[in-house]
Amino acid sequence: MILDGKLVRDEILNDLKEKIKDNNYRIKLAIILVGDDEVSKIYIRNKENACKFVGIDVEKFVFSSDTKQSEIEKLIDKLNNDEFITGIILQSPVPNNIDFDKCCNLILPNKDVDGFTENNIYNLYLNRDTILPCTVKGIIYLLNYYKIPIDGSNVVIVGRGNIVGHPLSLALLNLNATVTVAHSKTKDLASITKNADILISATGTPHLIKDNMIKKGATVIDVGVSRVNGEIIGDVDFLNVKNEARYITPNPGGVGPMTVAMIIDNLVCMYERRINNG
Ligand code: NAP
Repeated sequence: MILDGKLVRDEILNDLKEKIKDNNYRIKLAIILVGDDEVSKIYIRNKENACKFVGIDVEKFVFSSDTKQSEIEKLIDKLNNDEFITGIILQSPVPNNIDFDKCCNLILPNKDVDGFTENNIYNLYLNRDTILPCTVKGIIYLLNYYKIPIDGSNVVIVGRGNIVGHPLSLALLNLNATVTVAHSKTKDLASITKNADILISATGTPHLIKDNMIKKGATVIDVGVSRVNGEIIGDVDFLNVKNEARYITPNPGGVGPMTVAMIIDNLVCMYERRINNG
């Protein structure tokens, strides 16, 4: 069975659109883009379109690649203090002259839409209430939507990156999965992936996961995005693996749309927290 990220995204966005309209929420997202990364521009367009659809305002701040770090820091400080800004995204990657971690960490935790600040990651580590990174939240939402049990399941995550693999391992551990994290130094990857009830690959290595690496009936989630000759290729050899898996995400059309939906979901949650706390 296909785990249809587009279908679930559309349901989420329709519900949130109604909620925003019915409650007259005034939500505003600030997006900061530094440099000319073409893929970032596509991601930002997707985020802007989703915001427009649900009725969230977007203010975009575009900087050339030779911008000084201090300028970005000044802007983040201004946005932090702007009561009309609900959330801030610093689009990654940034040029080498900008320290992404330092800038990102200046964003107030309660305006950190991506859930990347140290404060929010520490709360995730301690299994406290936090803002979850959007891809992590989207994967969990998709599993819950299709009623795929997480509690007690053997989950194997391939990839330990800071954006997906590592925070996902913490989030799923918090939900009582038994989590194994593999990476580029892992020996005999197939012997590990074959134990997975849920296999999640987030490496960016095209078609790393083949049918002989899957337990029959497993759930397979493909997060990886590689661009080969202008085409998006996932980590999972979909045509091959779909015969072994019980549930599988297409790529594109699986995790990507869920990530965008969770940006909107995080913004609405952050706005509601703010109005409830006065
Ligand atoms: P990252 O920081 O570059 O991490 C990649 C991880 O994959 C690393 O831990 C690396 O191992 C591991 N790896 C690379 N090649 C491997 C191999 N052949 N076998 C086993 N492990 C391997 O990446 P990220 O930011 O976490 O993102 C991961 C992927 O997800 C990327 O393709 C990214 O584009 C995609 N992504 C998709 C979405 C979405 O919404 N669909 C959102 C975010 C990211 P080492 O640690 O040993 O180097």
